[in-house]
Amino acid sequence: MKNWIKVGAFACAVAVSTLTQAETEAPVAIVIHGGAGTILKANMTPEMEAAYLAKLEEAVRHGHTLLKAGEPGEKAVIETIQILETSPLFNAGIGAVYTYDGEHELDASIMHGGTLNAGAVAGVKTIRSPIAAASAVMNHSPHVMLSGKGAETFAELQGMTPVDNSLFDTTRRKEALDRAKARMEKAGVTHGGQQGNERFGTVGAVVLDAEGNLVAGTSTGGMTAKRFGRIGDSPVIGAGTWADNASCAVSATGHGEYFIRYHVAADICSRVKYQGLSLDEAANTVINDVLAEVGGDGGIIAVDSKGNIATPFNSEGMYRAKIDTEGNVAIGIYGEWGERLNP
Ligand code: ASP
Repeated sequence: MKNWIKVGAFACAVAVSTLTQAETEAPVAIVIHGGAGTILKANMTPEMEAAYLAKLEEAVRHGHTLLKAGEPGEKAVIETIQILETSPLFNAGIGAVYTYDGEHELDASIMHGGTLNAGAVAGVKTIRSPIAAASAVMNHSPHVMLSGKGAETFAELQGMTPVDNSLFDTTRRKEALDRAKARMEKAGVTHGGQQGNERFGTVGAVVLDAEGNLVAGTSTGGMTAKRFGRIGDSPVIGAGTWADNASCAVSATGHGEYFIRYHVAADICSRVKYQGLSLDEAANTVINDVLAEVGGDGGIIAVDSKGNIATPFNSEGMYRAKIDTEGNVAIGIYGEWGERLNP
């Protein structure tokens, strides 16, 4: 149970005293992340740590409440991610990292494991909730991914009022941009390769809903000081997000270029589906063997159709929270490199 904070058996208390007619008895589960990277206790104030834990707990409990009420997994994923998109703590929506040019370009995707339908937006600047826009692409267009201005126009046609890009500004991320640009200048590079500690906070959620459907979603501002319209793994179906009822649902966070090249989210589910590996084995192999070997840092959250959960990461930490099919709640931030953190 190391590196997780036990918050109590949520459903136990509920089951005894307040279980209402509306609450499903079907197994439901949810796992969320708020980014992975060099997250060290030494660099965290007690106030910051408490703020992260509280927001993760609020988000995971909200999603779980919806699932227990029998709501579709898609709704649970969207609303859970929206809690994190509106928190300045995370690199998604408000609090998104800055591009080299001092703006925010947001990416998000969602996938439904029952239908294999998927939707994504990439490089959008005026959409308040990219995960909601990704869902609109999935449900109200024949496409899977829309980008840039076209995606913004589509979102507007879907009734989403555009917002000014400055809505996503935070001082903390601006300072991170300044640091990244100073490093780039010192190293004499014009783009990429100079990520310090600045990127963290991509958010994601994966759920098993009462109908037995798996749904995954991811939302991010990408990497600090990104340039030339760079898009990471988060909106790429199969890389940053994947869901298939026949195997698992995955949301990833980390150095996106590696996650795209190694097709991380879908690779984990393919190993479950075709090699018959357990979710834990498949997820740990891809994150701690395949990716770690080539220097692709990051982690994933995953759930399978039985409600098994895996949360491996090969970086120092990953903000994460989960509520399993028994209603047990756990929240974690830190961990050691390569350690198998699945309790
Ligand atoms: N995967 C994201 C990207 O490369 C960043 C992250 O998850 O930290 O855009």
